[in-house]
Amino acid sequence: MISVKNLHKSFGKLDILKGIDIEIAKGEVVVVIGPSGSGKSTFLRCINLLEVPTDGEILFEGASITNPKHDINSTREKMGMVFQHFNLFPHKTVGQNITLAPTIVKNVPAEEANKIADDLLKTVGLADKKDNYPNQLSGGQKQRIAIARALAMQPHVMLFDEPTSALDPEMVGEVLDVMKKLAEGGMTMVIVTHEMGFAREVGDRIVFMDGGKIVEEGTPDEVFGNPQHPRTQDFLSKVL
Ligand code: ADP
Ligand code: MG
Repeated sequence: MISVKNLHKSFGKLDILKGIDIEIAKGEVVVVIGPSGSGKSTFLRCINLLEVPTDGEILFEGASITNPKHDINSTREKMGMVFQHFNLFPHKTVGQNITLAPTIVKNVPAEEANKIADDLLKTVGLADKKDNYPNQLSGGQKQRIAIARALAMQPHVMLFDEPTSALDPEMVGEVLDVMKKLAEGGMTMVIVTHEMGFAREVGDRIVFMDGGKIVEEGTPDEVFGNPQHPRTQDFLSKVL
């Protein structure tokens, strides 16, 4: 579904991504781990071109999205993204947050968008919050709404950038549970997280990044159980 070839990203003179190569299959759950500053967010943001790569190529469902002629908006519709800080629209209700993009971007009729919102709110366990505003919700609830909002566009892949890092500890589980359900439903997912238990349980593949490169990747058992690279070993010894 996604093929990243020799991806480089610089900010000015700073080389942040130094040649990332990865293939992500449909239905696969790839969990990206690594120290702060290693380029995990930049990598994720390059996948949907929130950051424009300096070099390399990204193919999505067979099309080169880094080709300047490619219509990135049509591709972004197929990629849902969830951020650390929710980014809900504060002056819209929960229901409006979810229906906005489908109605405006995809011209989904209001009634149908509402039905989609109702279904998604049930999926994330917040059917009773449709008419509330974001500031009336807890952090965990806001993040579950952010996930529902992304899903309303019926994306082919979901990108998560530390979705639980801003949450109080007691709210982490409810968000991870929603993500786990999504994974079990066959959603293709790329997840940056520091939740190692979740990574091990839900990830099909673990990718360890350091210094703008993929240093090591493998199954959860391989990477967590028997890390090969000293930098992976060092990182895991600090976080496990
Ligand atoms: P991670 O998500 O692994 O913590 P990031 O991808 O956020 O890492 O950042 C990697 C490095 O790139 C950091 O040193 C960060 O300061 C730098 N960086 C990220 N975005 C920008 C930007 N827009 N301009 C300049 N430097 C940036
Ligand atoms: Mg980050």
